[in-house]
This record gives sequence, structure tokens and C-alpha cells, in this order.
Amino acid sequence: MIQTKGYAAQSAETDLAPWNFERREVGPHDVLIDIKYCGVCHTDLHNIKNDWFPGVFPMVPGHEIVGIVAAMGSHVTGFKVGERVGVGVLVDSCRHCEECNNGLEQACTVSPVLTYNSIGHDGSPTYGGYSNNIVVDERFVLHVSNKLDFAAVAPLLCAGITTYSPLRNWKVGKGHKLAVVGLGGLGHMAVKFGVAFGAEVTILSTSAKKQRDAESLGAHQFVVTSEEAQVAAVRNSFDFIIDTVSAKHDLNLYLGMLKTNGTLICVGAPAEPYQIHAFSLLAGNKTIAGSGAGGLPQTQEMLDFCAEHNITSDIELIDMKNIHAAFDRMVKGDVRYRFVIDLATL
Ligand code: NAP
Ligand code: ZN
Repeated sequence: MIQTKGYAAQSAETDLAPWNFERREVGPHDVLIDIKYCGVCHTDLHNIKNDWFPGVFPMVPGHEIVGIVAAMGSHVTGFKVGERVGVGVLVDSCRHCEECNNGLEQACTVSPVLTYNSIGHDGSPTYGGYSNNIVVDERFVLHVSNKLDFAAVAPLLCAGITTYSPLRNWKVGKGHKLAVVGLGGLGHMAVKFGVAFGAEVTILSTSAKKQRDAESLGAHQFVVTSEEAQVAAVRNSFDFIIDTVSAKHDLNLYLGMLKTNGTLICVGAPAEPYQIHAFSLLAGNKTIAGSGAGGLPQTQEMLDFCAEHNITSDIELIDMKNIHAAFDRMVKGDVRYRFVIDLATL
């Protein structure tokens, strides 16, 4: 077995603390990765707090993983020892359903295995990237360019693909007005991709303080959603809105900002159900949609796009022991714009 050091929550009521555990031996198709950096996704906090469903404990969070290939099985053909690689939200799937065959492994209808808080096909729990190594089947490992700042690539593995995927799937680009709700980890990546795809991008934020960052992120407009006049000025304005909010909020407000036939794409995952008034949808033929992460081929496409266009996340690098301070700031919306753990500090 592979000896691993990590940080785990022993239950939903306890803080994360150092925890040593074992990972499986490197199988013929596996890659052993020395983890260098791991992004802190709001999902990590939802999971360790049982916000959505009872979790698998002890839980080692982390699904924005980048590292270096340390070893591989004899049948691995796509990777080299010493190469930079990444792992996102998935480490396995059934590999034969229609979705898997179409490269939509995140939507596998048979047996998707998440990077942590999940049970692998061998019956053992999966543990994520708040740790110093991980063993992953090569199908679920991604190539990372040497051109980009390595730590700032980590958030692309979840925040990146989760926003890239819907913008690509709905073909958002030139001639479209796109709004992004919530300027956090996912939100700032949605702004960067929207701008890169040629859309006119507006940020819809609760934090007036973030306005000064809008321009450097490339956004064209910033709206503080508590300011009635600013909200009134953007009624019936947008072709698409991507909603990245992590907590309870009123979707009816945002549906009113869509043009006729506009689409609101939800990627945020608050614990509470949404309440939508029928007329928010009927008036103006509005569509509400959702999108979860992205499949392996599109994740590689996104990483390659980022390397070509020099896109990374804006990060604050933290020591492992400061994870709780980072969580506290994340809950307050005080993220600029993704915390990334330096695993050398483990
Ligand atoms: P984050 O960095 O904490 O950003 C969330 C942002 O939402 C905050 O910075 C804040 O932005 C805004 N916000 C927070 N509370 C709000 C409220 N009550 N009303 C309005 N706005 C509020 O979180 P994240 O890592 O980007 O994740 C966001 C959500 O996406 C989480 O629920 C996460 O679980 C989910 N997620 C989903 C997927 C998927 O596959 N669909 C993947 C990853 C994450 P402002 O300060 O600008 O208002
Ligand atoms: Zn995530």
C-alpha cells in the first residue's frame, strides 16, 4: 500500500486535522501523483459539513489537484514520470454507458466515483487532494502545460471546467451579453472564460468591494445586487446568466434580468431548494438550466485552451494549517479568488 499524509475531517462536527492513511498500490493502469497544490472549492466545505447529504468519514477533501507523476503501472501509455498532471472531481466511472462513451464521465449513469467522499469500485472510500499523493487510473488524469503557473492551474480542475463547460455547451461568445452571479472561485473563472470567448460580461455581486477587480478580470460592467437602481438598469439585458452562488438566494431576481428567450445556468449548489415563481419563467420564455463539472475530454480541452490563452486562476496560496481561516473567509465571500493549498506545508 502507498502511505499518505493528509488533512481529514473525522465527522461533520470536527475540524480538519492531520491524518495518515493508505492508498491502493499502483495498478497496471494507475498513475501515482506527488501532489503539489490543491485548490479549496466551496464544495469541500459543503461536503465536510454534510450540507447536501451524509458524507463518508474520515473525509479528506480536495478535487482541484495538480502534481508530478512519481510512478506508473506497466500498462500506462499516456504519461511520463516527472510530468505535470492534474486530477479533478472524478477518479472513475463505469466506462461503458452512453455518457462515458461520449466523454461525459461526470454524468455516468452507472457508477461515477468522485475524487473524495465517494466509494471506489474496489469498495474503499476515496480520499482527495488535501494530501501528499494520490493513485488514479490514467483515464482520469489530465496533462498540464509547463507554460502556466502551476499553483494557479489547480483551480482549473474544478472551478475552471465547471464554468468553461456550460459556456462552451451553450456556445456563449461574440454578440452575447453574459452575466456572472457571485464573484468567487467559479465566478471569476466564468468572467475570464466569458471574456476570452468574446462575450460582453457583467458581474452581479453582493460585494461592492470587489468592483475594483472587475476591470482586471476583463469584465465590462459591475452591478451591486443590493443597489436597486443598478439592478433596474439591467432588467431584460442578458442572453445568459451563469449563477455560481453557494448559499440561499433569490433566482427570480436574476430571471428578471434575462432577455426574452434568455437562459439562466445554475452551477452553484446551495443546500436549500430554489423557489421560482412561475411568472419569472413564463414572462419572456425564460429557461433555467444546470451544469455539473465536465467530462475528461472537455477538461483536457479547457486546460489546453488555458495554456494557449495564458488563463489561470487568481489565487492566494495558503499553508495547510491555515485551512480553517480560508474556509471562514470563503463563507464571508472574502475570496480573491481561490485559495490554493501548498502541499509542501503539510
Ligand atoms: P465561492 O468561492 O465561495 O464563491 C461563491 C460566491 O457567491 C461568493 O464569493 C459570493 O460572491 C456569492 N455569494 C455567497 N453567498 C451569497 C448569497 N447568500 N447571495 C448571493 N451571493 C452570494 O464558491 P465556489 O467555490 O465558487 O463555489 C460556488 C458554488 O458552486 C458552491 O455551492 C459549490 O459547491 C458549487 N460548485 C458546483 C460545481 C458544479 O459542478 N456545478 C462545481 C464546483 C462548485 P459575491 O461576493 O460576488 O456576491
Ligand atoms: Zn469543486
